[in-house]
Amino acid sequence: MNSHAQAVVIGGGLVGCSILYHLTKLGWTEVVLLERSELTSGSTWHAAANIHGLHDNTNISRLQHYTMGLYKELEAETGQGCGIFQPGSLYLAQTEAREHQLRLQAAKARYYGMAFHEVTRDEAERLHPLVDFNDIRCIMFEPQGGNVDPSGVTMAYAAGARARGAQIHRNCPVTATRAQPDGSWIVETPLGEIRTQWVVNAAGLWAREVAALAGIALPLVPTEHQYFVTEAIPEIAALDRRLPSVADRDGEYYLRQEGKGLLVGAYEKDMRFWAEDGTPQGFGHELFADDLERIEPNMLRAIDRMPAVGAAGIKRVINGPMIWSPDSSALFGPVPELRNYFCCNGIIPGFSQSGGLGLLSAEWIVEGEPRLDMFGWDLARFGAWAGKDFTKARVQDQYANRFKIHFPNEERAAGRPVRVRPIYQTQKAMGAVFGLNYGWEHPLWFATEGEPREETVGFERQNWWGPVGREARMLRERAGIIDISNFARYRVSGPGARDWLEALLANRIPTQPGRSCLAPLIGRRGGIAGDFTVTCLETGDYLMVGSGMAERYHKRFFDAVPLPEGTRWTSATEAMAGFNVAGPLARDLLQRLTDADLSNDAFPFMRSARIEVAGVPCIALRVSFTGDLGWELHCSEADQKRLYAALLEAGQPLGVGPVGSRALTSLRIEKGYGSWGRDYSPEYWPQETGLLGLVKGDKDFLNKAGWLAIADRPPRETLRTLVIQSTTADATGNEPIFDLDGKPAGKVSSGAYGYHVRQSLALAYLRPDIAPGAELEVMILGRPHRALVLAGAAFDPEGKRLRA
Ligand SMILES: Cc1cc2nc3c(=O)[nH]c(=O)nc-3n(C[C@H](O)[C@H](O)[C@H](O)COP(=O)(O)OP(=O)(O)OC[C@H]3O[C@@H](n4cnc5c(N)ncnc54)[C@H](O)[C@@H]3O)c2cc1C
Repeated sequence: MNSHAQAVVIGGGLVGCSILYHLTKLGWTEVVLLERSELTSGSTWHAAANIHGLHDNTNISRLQHYTMGLYKELEAETGQGCGIFQPGSLYLAQTEAREHQLRLQAAKARYYGMAFHEVTRDEAERLHPLVDFNDIRCIMFEPQGGNVDPSGVTMAYAAGARARGAQIHRNCPVTATRAQPDGSWIVETPLGEIRTQWVVNAAGLWAREVAALAGIALPLVPTEHQYFVTEAIPEIAALDRRLPSVADRDGEYYLRQEGKGLLVGAYEKDMRFWAEDGTPQGFGHELFADDLERIEPNMLRAIDRMPAVGAAGIKRVINGPMIWSPDSSALFGPVPELRNYFCCNGIIPGFSQSGGLGLLSAEWIVEGEPRLDMFGWDLARFGAWAGKDFTKARVQDQYANRFKIHFPNEERAAGRPVRVRPIYQTQKAMGAVFGLNYGWEHPLWFATEGEPREETVGFERQNWWGPVGREARMLRERAGIIDISNFARYRVSGPGARDWLEALLANRIPTQPGRSCLAPLIGRRGGIAGDFTVTCLETGDYLMVGSGMAERYHKRFFDAVPLPEGTRWTSATEAMAGFNVAGPLARDLLQRLTDADLSNDAFPFMRSARIEVAGVPCIALRVSFTGDLGWELHCSEADQKRLYAALLEAGQPLGVGPVGSRALTSLRIEKGYGSWGRDYSPEYWPQETGLLGLVKGDKDFLNKAGWLAIADRPPRETLRTLVIQSTTADATGNEPIFDLDGKPAGKVSSGAYGYHVRQSLALAYLRPDIAPGAELEVMILGRPHRALVLAGAAFDPEGKRLRA
């Protein structure tokens, strides 16, 4: 065993082997994989190994598509069979909502050049004569769908990696991982130690135990999962071809041909956790006892759809463990609290995703950033607040509803609340309907007397649409009070505070107290890794406000810039709270509660001051994400209740009340403001986002080399506002857009109804040749909706209201 490595991958399952393979593909050859037992001996060996390309998340679709194409290349490259069957997959819609979902996926497939299209019932019956297509509203076909051999694929990754120099040691458990002061690691095994630049935790079912060796906890919990295989079925035995797999997600089972029989698997409502407190070290190639009764309701639906399932005897049942994160997406990326420690865990559809995951992991480790925005998979989306109870409750919900549609704007109740502010109960009593943001409960909207407080969910406008409109109009016509406590806040203090901010962010940092600026954080490839409002409170004391969900993600970037002597940054998110008071009457309202002069001359746009509002010390910033006249008030969390009560009381005679975050989304889209995580991400360059003016090439900042590499390149797409002709549904994000010749024109980054301008709106990245005034088609619900490209924002394009 070598004593040194560039990377040590812990775990020889499907995912660890793919990461190893992709590291070598990107040129790292001193890489070692350590496997406690034999390759595949976690979840991998017993998987059904179905492969699918389409997913609601566009980037995940792109990765799955890459993975499906990779298996054949792997076979050709290594000579190791992967047992690939790609007879295609049929996707069935029993409900209108499922039809919308499938049509949207088909539109995305058309946009990205992937094969996934509608077929008629006749065609479907020819493709799969054993399925009863009665009551099916819409059928899609994915020609590349199918399944692979779990062991074959894992061995092929291993063979490909070995051929480029990687070492694999089996029967070699990692017993300790020790961080070294220079950022490297010592990995201990019974066969000796390895000093390595990077550690990669790909320990699947044992990810928690391996993480604990490095002193970290991962929000993961395993469950049982079952499928069964039938005896040979004469109709199948008589065929000279393989049948497509069937994704009847409304029936909550999966079904495909296995040998001359069928394989049926199910995510049952009556699910079972396993090894909640830790995966046993001695667990090997073992399965659990069958419990087909638990999946009987799903089986009966499968039999209804395909009577041949019921007629055949059961040949074998597989009941094995798989390990889940709270939202069933991977926990992926470098751990922000450690140096050079990478995780890739909690992967449910490993066979659909292994190639893409391996590639992105390798890009992140070798090149410093993955090519695609993967925030939805980044382990930094969860913090310490995602403890055991939360994880268990969410996993139960995810497992039992695995095939339920996850609608846009849907907020699941499981495991909540986990983080609340002092005004939570007050807001609840006022009718607040809450959403989850990095663990915090925050009001989405407020129901009035008699209105339901439970949201309905769907692709079309839902029961919250009216109340949210009421709030948005109140703010534009009078004013509104928005709880912005869920924004991330940081204090940077010390003699080198400004120097550190200058070294971190791309804009010039204000030197005078009372001045603020907007400043982007640039990623390794030159894209937008974050955006902040930075305020100079005093010399050597700054407040940064940014996206709340990215709090742990920001840490990776902040820690990459050395702090000058005596200077530090701290998160103030928990210690502080805040409100945005915005709208034409915002000044009148606030002036009733403060002696500070709020006139435009004394307190202009983008300025700040420490003022008292109703006796509460606040940092007041003259900014508003609504695009209206407004102030953000940041106060101590201990004062939150007092300040809220005073604002609400002062607002009442003016007809001003609380506004939730869903109205804020509508308002900021009216104003054309992008939001990080939707309209801004490391995938987009400053010249595409409209933030170019905030990047100062004549100073140094983090990842400037990445910016310089793309600074002179023309925009690939440009962020613009669209007005869409739609009366029942609005864009929500990721809908593809085509021009009137049917060519791909762009995609929506965020969308909402603009209640003030009375138009359905979207912010969208469009081909640069598409000019204002052009007409396009946005695929809302997967169907074309005519749209017009605007020259500027739909609301107050000159910014008069902001500066009023
Ligand atoms: C019944 C069932 C059916 C499934 N069907 C499908 C399907 O149809 N399609 C699909 O895409 N996915 C399916 N899956 C999921 C799929 O199996 C997983 O996504 C995949 O196997 C995860 O692979 P992994 O490499 O992350 O983890 P694992 O396979 O668990 O591998 C982790 C490896 O790490 C090793 N290890 C652990 N600790 C140490 C240590 N200290 N030192 C060294 N090595 C260590 C283990 O021995 C193990 O080999 C199914 C799962 C189950 C249970």
